[in-house]
Amino acid sequence: MQVVRAQSAGFCWGVERAIEIARDFAAKGKRPVYTDGPLIHNRQMMERLQGEGIQEVGDYQSSSDVQVKEEERENSVLVVRAHGISPERRQYLKSLGIEFKDATCPDVGIVAGKIKIHARKGYATVIFGDRNHPEVIGLMGYTKGKGYPVKTFEDVDALPDLGDKVAVVSQTTMFTDDFHAIANRVKESYPEALVFDTICGATKDRQGDIAVLYDQEVEAFVVIGGHHSANTCKLAMLARKTGLPTYHMETAKEIDREELAQYRKIGVTAGASTPEFLIKEVCNQLAAIEPAPVG
Ligand code: SF4
Repeated sequence: MQVVRAQSAGFCWGVERAIEIARDFAAKGKRPVYTDGPLIHNRQMMERLQGEGIQEVGDYQSSSDVQVKEEERENSVLVVRAHGISPERRQYLKSLGIEFKDATCPDVGIVAGKIKIHARKGYATVIFGDRNHPEVIGLMGYTKGKGYPVKTFEDVDALPDLGDKVAVVSQTTMFTDDFHAIANRVKESYPEALVFDTICGATKDRQGDIAVLYDQEVEAFVVIGGHHSANTCKLAMLARKTGLPTYHMETAKEIDREELAQYRKIGVTAGASTPEFLIKEVCNQLAAIEPAPVG
């Protein structure tokens, strides 16, 4: 079978940077490295990192207390994930007596900065995204209590009166078209609203590459990444929107050879949190599948 891999498949630079920071500390000083919640949303990679002395503490939403024994704190490092955290969480983590290293993706930092500047000027912030996602939870912390996560038109229509200063931003991993549709809906009630398209370049590249693969006449898509990874699920959703059959899998173990043998050319992409070793394994195994004879 011919396998066409998306150029952007796999780790984005923000995730790669966070992993490098954590690995650097673990390797250099052989110090225990703790991350405030899972460093990336990929089970296989988290297992690998655990073997290197990088351990998750806290929780997915960075809301629970961090459990690190008192005697271990002095020698340890606590790394903040690419998703970022709220200023309150930062204050809490810094109070623990563990060396603190912020690996927030600079693209998330840009969104936080925009919110912070406008909140200071009295703006209410509408955030297009998932209110339960750690990135949105962190961003909410910069809104000075005037942050409103929305995901649908209904959410926009249910907003309270936001006053005359409104800014609209997006979680970095949302669909561009959806963001503009939501921003336009907000503008119907607040024509003066400031709109900042804060979807990151890495997300846009991954979304754009679905169209690139489609144009290369692939017959189906394989999207690799955690079933709980928001950005991978969105990629799979986008691939399905093309009308082509789409298979979302976490590892090569999920390949259904008989099913996939019906295709001659398949497009492969992977979420921003999918490690290279999983992508390679899936691509190699797909390439080895002999397409079923036609007719
Ligand atoms: S998806 Fe974008 S914002 Fe998120 S870590 Fe990657 S580059 Fe940064």
